[in-house]
Amino acid sequence: MADYVIAIDQGTTSSRAIVFDKSGSIVSTGQLEHEQIFPKAGWVEHDPKEIWNNVREVIGQALSKANLTRHDIASIGITNQRETAVVWDKNTGEPVYNAIVWQDTRTQAIVDRLAKDGGVERFKQKVGLPLATYFSGTKIVWILENVDGAREKAEAGDLLFGTTDCWVLWNLTGGTDGGVHATDVTNASRTLFMDLETLAWDEDILAAFDVPKSMLPKILPSSGVFGEADSHSLLRETPIAGILGDQQAATFGQAAFDTGESKNTYGTGNFLIFNTGEEIVHSKNGLLTTLGYQIGDNKPHYALEGSIAVTGSLVQWLRDNLGIISSAPEIEDLAKTVDDNGGAYFVPAFSGLFAPYWRSDARGALVGLTRYVNKGHIARAALEATAFQTREVLEAVNADAGVDLVELKVDGGMIANNTLMQFQADILGVPVVRPVVAETTALGAAYAAGLAVGFWSDLDDLRKNWQEDSRWEPKMDDAERDRQIRLWKKAVTKTFDWVD
Ligand code: ADP
Repeated sequence: MADYVIAIDQGTTSSRAIVFDKSGSIVSTGQLEHEQIFPKAGWVEHDPKEIWNNVREVIGQALSKANLTRHDIASIGITNQRETAVVWDKNTGEPVYNAIVWQDTRTQAIVDRLAKDGGVERFKQKVGLPLATYFSGTKIVWILENVDGAREKAEAGDLLFGTTDCWVLWNLTGGTDGGVHATDVTNASRTLFMDLETLAWDEDILAAFDVPKSMLPKILPSSGVFGEADSHSLLRETPIAGILGDQQAATFGQAAFDTGESKNTYGTGNFLIFNTGEEIVHSKNGLLTTLGYQIGDNKPHYALEGSIAVTGSLVQWLRDNLGIISSAPEIEDLAKTVDDNGGAYFVPAFSGLFAPYWRSDARGALVGLTRYVNKGHIARAALEATAFQTREVLEAVNADAGVDLVELKVDGGMIANNTLMQFQADILGVPVVRPVVAETTALGAAYAAGLAVGFWSDLDDLRKNWQEDSRWEPKMDDAERDRQIRLWKKAVTKTFDWVD
């Protein structure tokens, strides 16, 4: 009897494989980073072949560290960086171009062109998303228009598109030798092409984008069997039984299954997801409407999402571009050399601003500078930027939901930072809570895969696994909180209208 489930977490900066036991505890982990390719300002790419090779290798690492074989694994879950687009030739398995990453802004002209007729909210009622460079649909169009021969091959039915879950699934199930070309509802809901009601590709939108339907994967429920790992894989014959985009996976891993439950993930960017149950709620406050999860043939759960493009990646920027820290955790030591931000506010609008503003014309600004400000203040302002942006997203969620969130469940790489978590609680005015298993993204994919094969019996089985690890209570007084938020909002206005 297989005692474990394995999750593949194909993230923005690295790929991981994590083996979980029935209690949802981590048994072993494999992890490899992949190259971030920045060919021009605003362009971000990954090499899909490197990603697939890394995925294979981390599966091997995770299995061998715990001395396991495929016979110990009940099923495989996949979770992934969403919106990142891979287009490949189904006859050769070769990508026709690098993966265009979710943060990439090269498709602005395509967005503008599509928005001429009906504005950026042209398809929002149907797909829940505004037209923006962020979503994978615009990236497919760029590849079709800019890669030699791509359009002809696509029209001939030779090219396939997928987000990285789909790319991994296709390769894991045999690639050119019968690979399964499918994705789940959550990933499909980030393309701009899926009708939220029917969960099918929308013909009119595909026509407007001029994307052949033959490129698109089959849309399947998040929890259910997609296929089996092929005979060359270490996991051969093991079912791939769960796929969720990373943010939806984290929500699932936090056991936020019910209407009104939520989580906030602090990674490269930040993503707050609020479960709206079987109801499709359209935001009036700059949030996206997206799929939460679908288990088998059951009705799907929908969600509101507040996406923030730059949070943890600002810490990377301080490390890689300014060199004022040599590792991400050092930002906390540097921030602690001062008591406050010294009047500095850092708005990291590097990819424009996502929720709740959706301003692609914005660019980053560091304001409030005086001769007094030092690198400690800048480190603090960078951390605070994450907390302020989260505050603005939470305000939007509260306004859309009509009730105020009473606490915030958190996960992701940045929550190791106590200074940030305390400031977050202070600036929200509600407690911030961290679970014992902070790898909620991988856990969510494991849960979806385990549920589908009866490894876990139902959602209650999973809820029991959630345990609180730490809690930060707000300590800041109301007047100071109000002052900070006012200054932050003023700083945000300084980033607008910056792109020529
Ligand atoms: P992703 O899944 O998006 O790749 P992770 O959840 O692994 O991201 O989080 C990594 C991010 O967290 C990086 O952007 C890194 O800069 C940031 N980070 C990691 N540790 C810390 C820390 N101690 N303080 C602040 N930021 C951190």
